[in-house]
Amino acid sequence: MTSAPTPTLALDSRFARELPELALPWQAVDTPDPRVLILNEPLARELGLDPDWLRGDGLGLLTGTRVPEGATPVAQAYAGHQFGGYSPRLGDGRALLLGELVDGSGRLRDLHLKGSGRTPFSRGGDGLAAVGPMLREHVVSEAMHALGIPTTRSLAVVSTGRPVQRETVLPGAVLARVASSHLRVGTFQYARATDDIDLLGRLADHAIARHHPAAAAAEHPHLALFEAVVAAQATLVAQWMLVGFVHGVMNTDNMTISGETIDYGPCAFIDAFDPATVFSSIDTGGRYAYGNQPVAAEWNLARFAEAILPLLADDQDAAVAIAVESLGAFREHYSAAWSSGMRAKLGLPDGVDRAEASSITAELIALLQADHVDHTSFFRRLGAAARGDAEPARGMFLDLAGFDAWTTRWLALGPDAAAMDCTNPVYVPRNHLVEEALTAATDGDLAPLDRLLEAVSSPYDERSGLERHAEPAPDSFGAYTTFCGT
Ligand code: AMP
Ligand code: MG
Repeated sequence: MTSAPTPTLALDSRFARELPELALPWQAVDTPDPRVLILNEPLARELGLDPDWLRGDGLGLLTGTRVPEGATPVAQAYAGHQFGGYSPRLGDGRALLLGELVDGSGRLRDLHLKGSGRTPFSRGGDGLAAVGPMLREHVVSEAMHALGIPTTRSLAVVSTGRPVQRETVLPGAVLARVASSHLRVGTFQYARATDDIDLLGRLADHAIARHHPAAAAAEHPHLALFEAVVAAQATLVAQWMLVGFVHGVMNTDNMTISGETIDYGPCAFIDAFDPATVFSSIDTGGRYAYGNQPVAAEWNLARFAEAILPLLADDQDAAVAIAVESLGAFREHYSAAWSSGMRAKLGLPDGVDRAEASSITAELIALLQADHVDHTSFFRRLGAAARGDAEPARGMFLDLAGFDAWTTRWLALGPDAAAMDCTNPVYVPRNHLVEEALTAATDGDLAPLDRLLEAVSSPYDERSGLERHAEPAPDSFGAYTTFCGT
């Protein structure tokens, strides 16, 4: 057991102090019967919080009902483009920023709640969250973290004892989330819309200090901030693509300035490789389909550029020219990150030249798409092919001649099987397993969820007893649909 400091935990209010125009002091709603469903003990320790204390006297911190003295919980204001349409006032309608704390390695982290009750930003919503979707955010965000992808983290999910009305009545929950901040593209859009250039500048400076400190020393710090966000998002989305992650709701209010993945709603991992894959029930046009994500990110960054134009140059035409030129780097960053990720997935040694790597990658993508091959298990099985056993991967194709020709060409490049195993996961939170775990958990059985978490928390390390977790969904699972507004 760790000792004393936790009960006297100090939460800073840096966001609220530096940007009061964007922070509405607010209180979490009471929780009639709070119970910890999941506590992320390693993360708690990383933050200097004693897990035993959190389960006991500290439970009120995880629900926002008992915050440390001096803390100022706030609902954060932001705007956002949702599926292309602009909403000038979104903000935390069911969330609160409790404050910031310094973790064991000296990093400033936001402690934030989701499902903590209505706020002045709730519009028609109830401010609440159901157990299933909060556990879903826990599992998927922790899986992303274990895959090495920048993301917000989940500290805990606490059931509240308060029923939540959705299509049916569901048990309610609060998610305690940790992030390097909750600054979004939509935060800048909100600040820009106030026409208060001083506020916009302070927001940009706050973002530089927290996420991109090198920009402070640049000749033009606000332009350097923009360039850093473009680079961070390009790299992030490339990582999503490499593991087959579909965010599902890439609105500008769901895109961070830090480059962390945020707001796990209708997200899911692809099974069969198909760029047109959409899971979200409301994404009927396929705007946020798997293969459209890089373009959606670039579009969001153009909205970010618009929001900060007054910081880029006094003259608007000059500012636009600067923004357009800087945004041009998105494609270069994305391509570089994706190509080097694909090289790693294919185990290609450094000596393989760029043209050959790119041609063999393109050929493989065409084969995977034509035969709708399961993305995760294919790349893992390719590791066995590099060791001389191509059958497990070969059996996934209809076009056997195409696979054989490709494999001969690839093997001639000398792929490194051990390196492939470090980059191609065995376990991702597959949709059928997530659904099974959430259904059981909502009915009070947490065992399948614990098992799934065990699998996805060490995604590259194949273990006996978890065979089911490495397999694609059975055909009977059918097409998968996810829902927002949960
Ligand atoms: P999201 O789809 O989670 O990114 O949320 C979009 C916006 O809707 C944000 O402003 C949320 O705060 C708000 N929102 C989502 N669900 C609720 C809810 N149950 N009650 C109030 N506001 C909500
Ligand atoms: Mg959101």
